[in-house]
Amino acid sequence: MVRTYFPELTEARSPAAGPSLAKIGGAPWGFPRERWPRCATCGQAQRFLAQFPGGEHLPRLGAEESVYIFKCENETICDFWDPQSGCNRVFLLKHNDLSTGYTQQPPVDYPDPEFGEYTVASWRVFEDPIPATREADFYDAEAFLALPEELAVPHDFDTNQSTKFGGAPYWTGNGVPAEIASDMRVLGQLNSWICTMEHPEDYVEIGNLCFDGIGYLYDQTPEASRPDLRFVISR
Ligand SMILES: [Zn+2]
Repeated sequence: MVRTYFPELTEARSPAAGPSLAKIGGAPWGFPRERWPRCATCGQAQRFLAQFPGGEHLPRLGAEESVYIFKCENETICDFWDPQSGCNRVFLLKHNDLSTGYTQQPPVDYPDPEFGEYTVASWRVFEDPIPATREADFYDAEAFLALPEELAVPHDFDTNQSTKFGGAPYWTGNGVPAEIASDMRVLGQLNSWICTMEHPEDYVEIGNLCFDGIGYLYDQTPEASRPDLRFVISR
């Protein structure tokens, strides 16, 4: 069994916002404005996608640091799904290095799509039936295809269960993304579409993750003392 954490998302801004805030969309909390990333292809300011602090759901991070994910939303020309393109960026920042308050998105020259802002109110813990000994099979295309379906896709492609941290990755129908090598590990994943506690039946889009894709936050160096984080979007 491996432990998986599903975020319970609220549309309300947290009154207790601080360095340990976990959220998707809107404005990042504490991100230093001077470090706001630009897209390597179009040069426009990227858009904030999500931030998560270390914790039980993200044990590879220290408790006093947070990961921030950005991507370009200038979808006409930029390979924002590609971790090597420079059209998305992942930052791992110590809480001591954060600014205070929400950081506003710099202006962009293309029609900026409107996405909502969602805060993680709590985490729902799920004991995934995947045996920890089979974890490596999720990172080998052939071994993954050979897994019994109840292990390979315990979520049955349920959109609501495809935004999560911990445990084995829930891949899309295309299986293991080519960018994620067998010695790398996924730390968390974001589905393009989420539901909130206020509207549990209504799906809303958090960003253009190839329309119906899943973004995977992964560690290129899981055996090293410090993580080397990347973000890839797979359909
Ligand atoms: Zn771009």
